Amino acid sequence: MNFNDTEIVSSIMKDSGWEVTQNVDEADAILLNTCSVRENAETRIFNRLKHFENKFKKRKDKSIVGVIGCMAERLHEHLLNLQHTVSVVIGPDEYRKLPQMLEQASSGNKGVAVKLSKVETYDDIAPLRTEGVSAWLSIMRGCNNFCAYCVVPYTRGRERSRPLLSIVQEVKGLHEKGFKEITLLGQNVNSYKDEGSKATFDALISEVAEISKSLRVRFTTSHPRDMSDRLIEAVAKYDNICKHIHLPVQSGSNRILKKMNRRYTIEHYLGIIEKIKSSIPNIALTTDIIAGYPDETIEDHQATLDLIKEVQYAGAFMFKYSPREGTKAFAEEDNVTEEVKIERLNEIIQLQNSIAKELNSLDKGSTLEVLVEQPSKRNPNEWMGRTSTNKITVFPNEHKKYSAGDYVNVKIKRTTSATLYGEVVEQ
Ligand code: SF4
Repeated sequence: MNFNDTEIVSSIMKDSGWEVTQNVDEADAILLNTCSVRENAETRIFNRLKHFENKFKKRKDKSIVGVIGCMAERLHEHLLNLQHTVSVVIGPDEYRKLPQMLEQASSGNKGVAVKLSKVETYDDIAPLRTEGVSAWLSIMRGCNNFCAYCVVPYTRGRERSRPLLSIVQEVKGLHEKGFKEITLLGQNVNSYKDEGSKATFDALISEVAEISKSLRVRFTTSHPRDMSDRLIEAVAKYDNICKHIHLPVQSGSNRILKKMNRRYTIEHYLGIIEKIKSSIPNIALTTDIIAGYPDETIEDHQATLDLIKEVQYAGAFMFKYSPREGTKAFAEEDNVTEEVKIERLNEIIQLQNSIAKELNSLDKGSTLEVLVEQPSKRNPNEWMGRTSTNKITVFPNEHKKYSAGDYVNVKIKRTTSATLYGEVVEQ
């Protein structure tokens, strides 16, 4: 979401005559787009601000520093008090004010704009995207779910969806510009609803998939409670809707899910998983897991391990619980010790990695369609791309035969828990 928000912010700034620079030393303004979802993300921003403060001590012409996004929304004017380098603090629904506030900051007036909106979707702003293969596209903003541990409803406000037609138009435009993959984004993407036509997410994704068979469509993040049969049918029906569903479960224990206010049971979740697997046999499922939630017992933890074994996830984002001020869970005692949290998290990671390794090894010998993205980081003669199931695939690209945006068929020769390695086969 932040990646796409940065593109929206860049577009707003460009329209006011600003230009993006890759060189921080020549920047008149530095904007940090921030995340509050875990404490670690905020710590990194504070460290970055400290770095700028030290840097500016040696310079006469200081850049204006702005903090934008969720941390701005959460800490608002405190950020100005805590961090004297910061002049501008702008929350996710106030980006249109950026040029004006930077102007004011250049005359020494610091400013804060953090009002949340019920309607802002930046629908009329074409995000300033760099040319590429994949584009992110926010189709809705905010969240109404209020999971007990999560700051998003407080930093991003209530759910609101963009009109279906404007999304379809934007995707058509991206396809014409040569983008090959679109990821439809929302904090709770599958609760999307077009206010005018009342179309739900399954209708939207079907229309997007119809635009071109050569355009891959992905979506994230789905809430298990909003995973409709019609959406599962749409993923099964269209070859170009990628065969990957990220369905955060957070815990395998009903007791903990209730405390988290996730509003589903493990039985319900497993029912959806069964439907998905039976309708889309080649699907890759991924999830999010929190280890060491307040009051989590060894039995709750074991239930999470059991669930991971049962579902057989292709991948997972796994974190230890991090209390976030202002959330319902923050009022609870963070009573699982750090040591136990780390121990449980490591156990979850170890199990998940062994499952991913096992699942990936099943791809050995098969030929998979890969969308070529870029040279591999380790070896410029090797390139990487992704399968429809979102698995990173590396293959030799001597004589630069293939370019970003090509579809190639790769015969998988070797696998690890994170990557598939193979060779392109001409078909
Ligand atoms: S659904 Fe996701 S974004 Fe919304 S409150 Fe829950 S964890 Fe946060």
